[in-house]
Amino acid sequence: MGCRAVDCRGPLTATATATGAAGAGTETCDVAIIGAGVEGLAAAWALARRQAGRIVVLERGTVGSGFTAKSSGILRCHYGVRSLAAMAWKSLEVLENAGTVLDADIGHRRAGYLVGVGPDNVAPLAANVAMQQTLGIDAGLIGATEVAAMLPAAHLDDFAAFAYEPHGGFADGYQTAAAFAGAARRLGVTIRQGAPVVALDPVPPGVQVTLTNGERLQAGTVVVAAGPWTGPLVAPLGIDLPLRTQREQLMVVAPGVDLPAPPVLSDLVSLQYVRLWQAGTDGRGTRLLVGNSDHHAPEWSDPDHYSDAPEDEPLVAAVGKFGHRFPSLADAGLESSYAGCYDVTPDYNPVIGPAPVAGVVLCTGFSGHGFKISPAVGELVADLVVKGASGDPDVPETDFRLERFAAGQPLVSPHPYAGAGEMR
Ligand SMILES: Cc1cc2nc3c(=O)[nH]c(=O)nc-3n(C[C@H](O)[C@H](O)[C@H](O)COP(=O)(O)OP(=O)(O)OC[C@H]3O[C@@H](n4cnc5c(N)ncnc54)[C@H](O)[C@@H]3O)c2cc1C
Repeated sequence: MGCRAVDCRGPLTATATATGAAGAGTETCDVAIIGAGVEGLAAAWALARRQAGRIVVLERGTVGSGFTAKSSGILRCHYGVRSLAAMAWKSLEVLENAGTVLDADIGHRRAGYLVGVGPDNVAPLAANVAMQQTLGIDAGLIGATEVAAMLPAAHLDDFAAFAYEPHGGFADGYQTAAAFAGAARRLGVTIRQGAPVVALDPVPPGVQVTLTNGERLQAGTVVVAAGPWTGPLVAPLGIDLPLRTQREQLMVVAPGVDLPAPPVLSDLVSLQYVRLWQAGTDGRGTRLLVGNSDHHAPEWSDPDHYSDAPEDEPLVAAVGKFGHRFPSLADAGLESSYAGCYDVTPDYNPVIGPAPVAGVVLCTGFSGHGFKISPAVGELVADLVVKGASGDPDVPETDFRLERFAAGQPLVSPHPYAGAGEMR
């Protein structure tokens, strides 16, 4: 196949056709991004805003068709890792204002975010909130009386402390991916759907990308943002990514009564989270989304062959935890259940940074919490591609380097939650 289909048009300055090592007539771009999930597309948008040259996104399916579409989309800044808290806070500027910034509706709802902990986690909660406040994050400790007013149906006795973020909430994963895609396209980025990449080969001064149909594209830099599929793609380059795929099952619950819209709840006692899934006009159509926060015994899966159907064991556990937390919802019913997969690293934090192969940047391993930080991830990737370093002192690129695993320096909170250390 020729390279005519590799459309690199845009308001760009770099040459469009390579000669030399890439071969005469091979189409070129400055940056190829593999994967049109929320991370790859946020990176494309950020790179385009920096006029980083010809940018092509290659997606094997369609925009947002990976695990982005299954995201619970919860927005919170509640991290113990400072850089992640900073990324979540800075990302809110985009996600809360997507209508103007991205010119799109991303299904954002500022519902508030509440986290509740048991007696063994009171000190970490206070320490984490104090750290968040040093970043300017609007977060604070609140009392059980205030929580009871927000969540009148909840049993709160086994919580010892709470924190609340008024800017917390949620947005829709697919709509957000589509919004980044639209914004990137308007700046000249080419997004090719139905374009599976099968090989990456170092061809100085960049990297050659080969598609399943044999097409080749010579890129100055390749950003691999292919979620849990990143490992097999970069393994032939000798890059050993410690990535695993963890299946998670979610429940959509009909509460059975007219409920006021709840804040997002991270229940770090029962190890579950709850958010509004669908708001009814008078509350009667309200549905809740309930997810699992217990990662002690992950269900490792294959991202192409995991079961999307409800499985009994996790469902029974989830129903029990929900019943414990909301005993007054005696008529609550399970409306539906589905599953998604996290691309999990050993420390449950992402890898964002250069690979040990020139011209390859990794952007993967978001471990079930990459949605809320995606605009800041885009910024960091763009900084790394354009300048080779983070431009944000609150987000040191060293935090996310691949080498941290081999060096025995995982990215972990200085104040981890006993029993719930992952993703925070
Ligand atoms: C059930 C669930 C709930 C979650 N809830 C939250 C939450 O509440 N808050 C939060 O912040 N985060 C949450 N997350 C995490 C968040 O959704 C993810 O971290 C984020 O969407 C990952 O985006 P991504 O772009 O890295 O990956 P993906 O969306 O998976 O995108 C990767 C893309 O790469 C493409 N691809 C793969 N291989 C190739 C190839 N060879 N060639 C071309 N394209 C390829 C895929 O088709 C896919 O579209 C959740 C995730 C899941 C699964």
